[in-house]
Amino acid sequence: MSTNLAKLDLKDLPRVTEQSVLDEFFDGLRQANKDDLQHQLYVTSLYQFCCRILEAHKKGKIDNSRLPAGSPMYFYCIACGLQSDTQPEGYTCRPKRSCDACLKMDDWLRDAVALASHLGLVPPVQESKGPPELADI
Ligand SMILES: [Zn+2]
Repeated sequence: MSTNLAKLDLKDLPRVTEQSVLDEFFDGLRQANKDDLQHQLYVTSLYQFCCRILEAHKKGKIDNSRLPAGSPMYFYCIACGLQSDTQPEGYTCRPKRSCDACLKMDDWLRDAVALASHLGLVPPVQESKGPPELADI
């Protein structure tokens, strides 16, 4: 999958605070290169990534440290912030750090993270560490 962020018309980026602003912005991007299926898939993939960040903010995170002993542990995608894994309290497997949807994006994830950041969309902050870094994905 190639990266195409430079090909998008990214003038006048809105500051996305709600779904309707996001929808309108991406409708504009979809109008360009309408017959280019690859472009449409790319734009849709970026759109769905931004939707996941908005959803993650709505859902919030479970603070594992506040759960009673014996509770399962919840882990969140470092790219979009949605839940990526659940493990029993004494887990021995390494929890998944990215959700399946973000993993499937492959090279496009880098573009999606950059675009979302330009739109003011960042995933909810992890409890114990700072903002995600691409190298962690
Ligand atoms: Zn994700």
